[in-house]
Amino acid sequence: MKKAKIIEKRFSFFNDLVPRLNTSRIVIHHTGGADIDAYAEQIHTWHLEKGYAGIGYHFVIRKSGDIERGRPLWTVGAHAYGANSDSIGIHLSGDFTYNAPSKEQIESCALLIANLAENYNIPIDRQHILGHREVDPAGLSGTSCPGNMLLTMLDVIVSKANWYRFNNADTVDTPAEPPKIIWKPRAGMLSEHFAESEFACECCGKCEMDPRLIELLEQLRYNIGGYPLYILEGYRCAQNAEGIDDLHCTGKAATVACPRQLTFGQFKWYVENLPFDGIEYYSNFADVDVRNGGIGSKIFLGG
Ligand SMILES: [Zn+2]
Ligand SMILES: [Zn+2]
Repeated sequence: MKKAKIIEKRFSFFNDLVPRLNTSRIVIHHTGGADIDAYAEQIHTWHLEKGYAGIGYHFVIRKSGDIERGRPLWTVGAHAYGANSDSIGIHLSGDFTYNAPSKEQIESCALLIANLAENYNIPIDRQHILGHREVDPAGLSGTSCPGNMLLTMLDVIVSKANWYRFNNADTVDTPAEPPKIIWKPRAGMLSEHFAESEFACECCGKCEMDPRLIELLEQLRYNIGGYPLYILEGYRCAQNAEGIDDLHCTGKAATVACPRQLTFGQFKWYVENLPFDGIEYYSNFADVDVRNGGIGSKIFLGG
């Protein structure tokens, strides 16, 4: 199946986020109030002001169809009172009381639902793909979200999602760049969470890693839930090379263990949703690389 292109974000949350143990439905929202093209950073600020830990939705779909990451997917969201513990929240930017979402928003939403439904084994029907107000039958929140127009269009979105899920063999897939996060350089650190020592050559301690690889590993760490990633191998000097074009010798490859908090299947899913160029799987770890600059050329080596 074609994969939705996610524009990665890494928000800081005020409180610790809680893992979601069940995922059985997807809840659709709009901005409401004004037909604006709200963006993830903006919603993050609004939700902090409301006293939430941070952005409450897992995804924000802009009018252009761009899909922005919000709260990490593994967490309980803050988007639908009484339904957060078993659902994923998708926000479409705009007010859809009288206006319809853009064509691009409809397509992106359908494709994203198709991807999520496959991963979480959620049936794509109107019992499992719901508007915000439909998960609040008692009207406790008094919400009219996602607006009458978007609510009536959920049938269309559901049919399109089924098409993407089952009839679309297109695998063309160009994942977006993760954001460049400014962090304060610290001695011995390659990035906010990764130390040089974790990647140094085992024989001589030399370490010349490609920053793009470190950037993608930081995003992987965020997306899986901030769990530390154990690096089995990073840089290898010429003396330590395995074969003539060992990508570890250019700092473009690293071997990462699956954290104990995730099944290997979950780990693979997160790895494949980032623009690594090559991925090779072993018993409980993955060798990932950025041989083409980390553009998601997806040279799967299997393993
Ligand atoms: Zn809502
Ligand atoms: Zn060495």
